Amino acid sequence: MFTYDYHIHTRLSPHTDKHHSIDKIIRFQQDRGMEEIGITDHDFSYGSRTKNVDLARKTIDECESSISVRLGAESHMLEYRVPSIDIRFAAYFDYILMAPNHYHFRGVARPTRLLDPRNVAAHEIHMFEAAIACPITDVVVHPFVLSPEVFGFSTEEFSDFGSEMMEHIEQKRLINLLDMAAGRGIGIEISPKFIKYNQRHLIEFYQLCLEREVKLMIGSDAHNAEELEELGLLEPVLEVLGVAEEHLWRPRKWQW
Ligand SMILES: [Zn+2]
Ligand SMILES: [Zn+2]
Repeated sequence: MFTYDYHIHTRLSPHTDKHHSIDKIIRFQQDRGMEEIGITDHDFSYGSRTKNVDLARKTIDECESSISVRLGAESHMLEYRVPSIDIRFAAYFDYILMAPNHYHFRGVARPTRLLDPRNVAAHEIHMFEAAIACPITDVVVHPFVLSPEVFGFSTEEFSDFGSEMMEHIEQKRLINLLDMAAGRGIGIEISPKFIKYNQRHLIEFYQLCLEREVKLMIGSDAHNAEELEELGLLEPVLEVLGVAEEHLWRPRKWQW
């Protein structure tokens, strides 16, 4: 199993366990044999203040762990050309995760008809394109993964709706976008959430990513310790996909 997890929330983010602090996460991940992890709270968690980012880095440094810990941020596209993070503020992080479909957050453009898979598909691909075109994006997180909180379907219905939506995505356009992502070194997240949310049809999408030489980023998107462990759900999927070390997106090491 790969020992990376580049999408982890701390208690700074909403809906997170209040004990889920940086030092606890690092200790927990170290004990279970992880090699490199990334702390990625939502950009707004820092209130646009660089001093709060410095504080997070200080906490990481003070942990003195044996694993490598990076500090990223999760941002999202509000509209086609509008990311939620200021690009100067983005430069304070090691990498930026860009979410194209944070429909549960205020100010994010939503599909006009949430119950119509064709309409949702058109919106998802449009925002996926926006995330890839955004100059500060390092990884597009959970593209085409629909959240049960937003759609409110049963697990069964959800799986059918999701696969129907993917059938309405124009393949040629998708391939062009993946080629653009590969060219720019942008990764695509693969997270245990797609399994948890019963959207196994997305395995074909991850297969296509690999065919187009797009790197996959492993991220749990955990909001508590239990979710950190759910990363293990990915193990059989990565095996089926034939994912090897060279297929994975990892943050750049800056050399000064
Ligand atoms: Zn997200
Ligand atoms: Zn997240």
